[in-house]
Amino acid sequence: MRSQFLTDDQISVLTRLRHALHSAPELSGEERATAGAISAFLRLTEPDAIIEGLGGSGLAVIYQGRTPGPTVMFRAELDGLPITERSNAAHRSKRHGLAHACGHDGHMAILAGLGVWLGQKRPAHGRVVLLFQPAEETGAGARAVLADPKFASLRPDWAFAMHNMPGLPLGALAVAAGPASCASVGLHLRYQGRAAHASMPETGLSPARALAGLMAEIASQPDSQPMGPEFRLATLCHLSMGAPSFGIAPGHADVSLTLRTVTDAALDDFESAFIEQAKSARGALDLTVSRHDHFNASHNDKQAAGHVARAGQTLGMKTAEFALPMRPSEDFGAFSATTRTALFFLGAGEAHPALHNPDYDFPDALISPGCALFAEVLAQVMAATR
Ligand SMILES: [Zn+2]
Ligand SMILES: [Zn+2]
Repeated sequence: MRSQFLTDDQISVLTRLRHALHSAPELSGEERATAGAISAFLRLTEPDAIIEGLGGSGLAVIYQGRTPGPTVMFRAELDGLPITERSNAAHRSKRHGLAHACGHDGHMAILAGLGVWLGQKRPAHGRVVLLFQPAEETGAGARAVLADPKFASLRPDWAFAMHNMPGLPLGALAVAAGPASCASVGLHLRYQGRAAHASMPETGLSPARALAGLMAEIASQPDSQPMGPEFRLATLCHLSMGAPSFGIAPGHADVSLTLRTVTDAALDDFESAFIEQAKSARGALDLTVSRHDHFNASHNDKQAAGHVARAGQTLGMKTAEFALPMRPSEDFGAFSATTRTALFFLGAGEAHPALHNPDYDFPDALISPGCALFAEVLAQVMAATR
């Protein structure tokens, strides 16, 4: 049984790459320097092709097998977050207000490790596409890559992605067939009425009543709901109305909220019902609604999830129970709609700071098992499609 595909020296190089990426995070859609660093690194592995500028700043690195066969894609994310990191580590973010607080730096290092492996040992047949995808955090990147004509020739038969997961034991693998992450959409509601003197609010048109109804609706949701087809969650994220003055009844309001469900179809229904209700409660106010950060649900194909589970067993990895689908969204779901996919999770440690927390930093200890897992998943797919 192999538990390590790469040498200790190669893992050290990948760890240094992870630290370099960590210190220079870039926002969603602006990951040009990150993609450039990965491209320069993987060029040394002499891939068969590199395609740059995919869906914006995305990068695909291709390793061709000797004979025809399936296209197997592995995806990592390029983007950091608008979060100020709290860290004394030498590799802490050098970009003010930006941090790799979701571990995408670690995911990239692991995917680069698979590239190092493929540089030494091409796939038996078919080809492998390493996709370094832009703008995961806003939900825009996967769809932009899929819509890019340059991606047409890379369409995968299988696609895999891994996300690290604080709260699960370090290095434990969690994977299951079926729904893996929720569908979600952000809505911005702008109510436009007419301000009035506070002594005569009836002469204006205040959004207060419409908002009170909306708040009551959101507050009436149960605190816990079982994850299933009926799961519906509306989360209020931001609200502003009028101005902090005692003399004016407000004339406008802005509300940002997120809707979340288990399937794409349920999200469509929930969204239209929610907007319909907001419209019917607006009275004489103008209401404009805009959509943001739309994520498809991701769904794990039975065979694809099976390949990941068998890879974990072959490597003797411990497994973790992780309730799926998880509530957070992952834009990998856009690939689920087009091919057989599996999104799986590697524990980052039970007491590890949560994703998107200022204290979060990807655990370097996951780089070696992550590389081995990706390489073994590939071996499983290749063996099954021989
Ligand atoms: Zn994230
Ligand atoms: Zn993430």
